[in-house]
Amino acid sequence: MTYYQVGDVKVYLLRDGVYRTDAGAIFGIVPKPTWSKHAKPDRRGRVPLAVNCYLIQSKRRNVLVDTGLGNKLNAKWRDVYAVKKDGALLEELARVGVSPVDVDVVILTHLHFDHAGGATTVDDDGVLRITFPKATYFAQRRDWLDATRPNERTRGGYQPEDFLLLKETGRLRLLEGDRFVTKNVSLVVTGGHTTAHQVVRVASRRRVGYFPGDIIPTAAYFPPAYGTAYDLHPLTTLEAKKTLLRRAVRRRALLFLPHEIDDPVGKVTLDDTKKYVFAPEGPSVRDG
Ligand SMILES: [Zn+2]
Repeated sequence: MTYYQVGDVKVYLLRDGVYRTDAGAIFGIVPKPTWSKHAKPDRRGRVPLAVNCYLIQSKRRNVLVDTGLGNKLNAKWRDVYAVKKDGALLEELARVGVSPVDVDVVILTHLHFDHAGGATTVDDDGVLRITFPKATYFAQRRDWLDATRPNERTRGGYQPEDFLLLKETGRLRLLEGDRFVTKNVSLVVTGGHTTAHQVVRVASRRRVGYFPGDIIPTAAYFPPAYGTAYDLHPLTTLEAKKTLLRRAVRRRALLFLPHEIDDPVGKVTLDDTKKYVFAPEGPSVRDG
């Protein structure tokens, strides 16, 4: 497996699969003639999105950023979202030599089904279990309240079996804002996509990486007007995105995108017309 180096820390891209979602919903107010240069919809009006999770590995800790779609989606959801995957996150972890019990920390940027779906797993006997039994799972308390008390508009984004068991078994740590989860990894609440959506920052030896979550799902979302119709607070997303991109340029940070398909890791630059441009970066080193 190849990895990206941020100072002393390694970051592995773990590809969980691909699904499709309604193009109008994910491109929000951007009209089709404009967004169609980024993606081609299928006959049901859906465009593909990758589901990318990341493992941040330092000497002593394995930190997982988001858990993908999991294995609990029923036939209807799998059809509606054209889910293509089969246990992919765990297979990818195994390829890195990490088994579920080796994961120390799981960060949930937010609790939507395509990010929290792999937090729990239905085993061969049909029993719902914690996927990473020794890990502490971090989510924001405000996000938890939204997810466990959804309204008519937000309900479709959540599958309660992804996260209720985390609380019942005491594995879930609910946070009230920004904090460090290890020496190198910190969480910053942005809101926007959900009320307390959080992004992840990794820093080591003056090198920085950002995991923007659904504030910047793919590089197509760099232009300010792009945002998903799922965003609960689009103007907050807008400000959070501008701040994050500005910082990423200044710090020459690596950006680890959650839904970009081919090359989801890279740097951001500003071109002559002040547009943000994504420069995908190959992995720095190959293991073994
Ligand atoms: Zn997402």
